[in-house]
Amino acid sequence: MTKIVCVNCNTAYIPEENGVCILDHDVTRTPYQLFFGDRIKCPSCRVEVVICARYPFLQRHNNRFHTVIAEKRAENQIIDVYAYVYEE
Ligand SMILES: [Zn+2]
Repeated sequence: MTKIVCVNCNTAYIPEENGVCILDHDVTRTPYQLFFGDRIKCPSCRVEVVICARYPFLQRHNNRFHTVIAEKRAENQIIDVYAYVYEE
């Protein structure tokens, strides 16, 4: 696994929770794909990040997309990620 270091604390991140779900939203803030990821944190300053799988395990055209989102939300296992919109 890649070693991830907190530049504020000069400390390596440690595992916090495996198998969380990242829910990507498009620029209209509509959910469109789900990824698995692992949450890690800095043991010193407690900042947390998620290392996310490269490919989604479910996309919005799949029949089970909204059901799985509802199930994962009930388990508090969803981290919502929104597309960055550039402002001029
Ligand atoms: Zn830190």
